[in-house]
Amino acid sequence: MVFELYVWVVYCGSTRLGQPIIKQVVILVQYDVTVIGGGVVGASVAMGLARKGLQTVVLDEGDMAYRASRGNFGLVWVQSKGAGCPDYAEWTRCSAALWPHFAQQLQDEVGIDVAYRQSGGLDLCFSEQELAASATKIAALNSHAPSAGLYSQLDRNSLQEMIGPLGSSVVGAGYSPLDGDVNPLKLLQAMHAALQRYGGDYQANCRVANIERRGDEFVINIPHSRITSHKIVLAAGLGNISLGAYLGLDVPIRPLRGQILVSERMPTFLSMPTSIVRQTEDGTVLMGDSKEDVGFDDGTDMQVASAIAQRGIMAFPQLAATRIIRCWGALRIMTRDGLPLYANPSDEPGVYILNGHSAVTLAAVHSKQVPDWIAGATKPPQIAAFGLEQRHVC
Ligand SMILES: Cc1cc2nc3c(=O)[nH]c(=O)nc-3n(C[C@H](O)[C@H](O)[C@H](O)COP(=O)(O)OP(=O)(O)OC[C@H]3O[C@@H](n4cnc5c(N)ncnc54)[C@H](O)[C@@H]3O)c2cc1C
Repeated sequence: MVFELYVWVVYCGSTRLGQPIIKQVVILVQYDVTVIGGGVVGASVAMGLARKGLQTVVLDEGDMAYRASRGNFGLVWVQSKGAGCPDYAEWTRCSAALWPHFAQQLQDEVGIDVAYRQSGGLDLCFSEQELAASATKIAALNSHAPSAGLYSQLDRNSLQEMIGPLGSSVVGAGYSPLDGDVNPLKLLQAMHAALQRYGGDYQANCRVANIERRGDEFVINIPHSRITSHKIVLAAGLGNISLGAYLGLDVPIRPLRGQILVSERMPTFLSMPTSIVRQTEDGTVLMGDSKEDVGFDDGTDMQVASAIAQRGIMAFPQLAATRIIRCWGALRIMTRDGLPLYANPSDEPGVYILNGHSAVTLAAVHSKQVPDWIAGATKPPQIAAFGLEQRHVC
């Protein structure tokens, strides 16, 4: 980065000797890329840019903002992704395929085990109707899958052979061997550490409230500094709505709340995650599958929490005897068509807008393919149509 020190004499009062009183010092810092937002999207992309040798800074608002990356379920999940959109299905599979190496690389680089496992995963069905809907989805995914066996359906007997006893109302499940899970907080911590290891800067508690374009450069004023760069990545989750507006861009995303319950530690009973219940590496059990259209309310609701617990107990009756120790709400970042957004608007060169509701799963591609694109490579073909201009591509 290039530092320049400018001393702004904002108010020239006088001392007794008639010297100006310096009221404000502004440091000008120039980077190759400014990333706004340090959630899983911003952190993965910024880490990848720094690994490529680009001078990168992350400006991150912190605790006051909505932060899906600190409130999610931790699945790395391919089934149910892209049944109606082969490009999205392939992008997701590509990330899942990279995940083992991605997790190992983080471990090697910064010594943090993100507790990733590619154990396979189950999408449990509780009625014949749910089973039929799951079969349709699996058939659609298989119709454009590169090989057999990536998506399948299990009946109750095969399911119990795979994971042991289940509640009586479970009738079957969707299954993919590519699915798995990770500790999302350790993931975030590891990516932030890797960013800094590669020379990237991270500015916490730094809310961006202005973006100015000056020629081919972007200027952001933050307390005591003026950041400039030729490229700017909007990766602020729901915060992208207001950041886009600073540049005259409409970012078409909305919140969708999910709640998660956490139990006390239990002896291991679940060898792979399901879409509604998963047991973590330390024995706690996470439950959650709500999708609530409640605007920007990220609170909790006992009725919904109770329904989540009931569904968990229907799947694994032993959960009835455990205590819930924590519950929270967090906001997903949804586009209208449910597909991620990777935009580099033609009338705003240098601006990259990244949003999506499955960014834990996609962290591996976000740390490699997306930084390559931002650095100047061709946009990956799977996401070529996921810009702002062409939303309804599938
Ligand atoms: C309940 C729930 C369960 C989920 N489960 C899964 C799952 O199992 N698997 C999966 O792949 N995905 C899951 N997701 C989705 C996943 O969590 C999100 O896709 C991901 O966290 C989005 O990351 P992000 O970095 O875009 O946004 P965020 O995590 O919201 O981060 C945005 C960051 O930008 C910062 N920011 C905002 N405004 C500004 C500003 N003006 N200036 C500076 N900084 C700013 C914030 O401080 C924040 O750190 C789940 C989400 C929810 C809510």
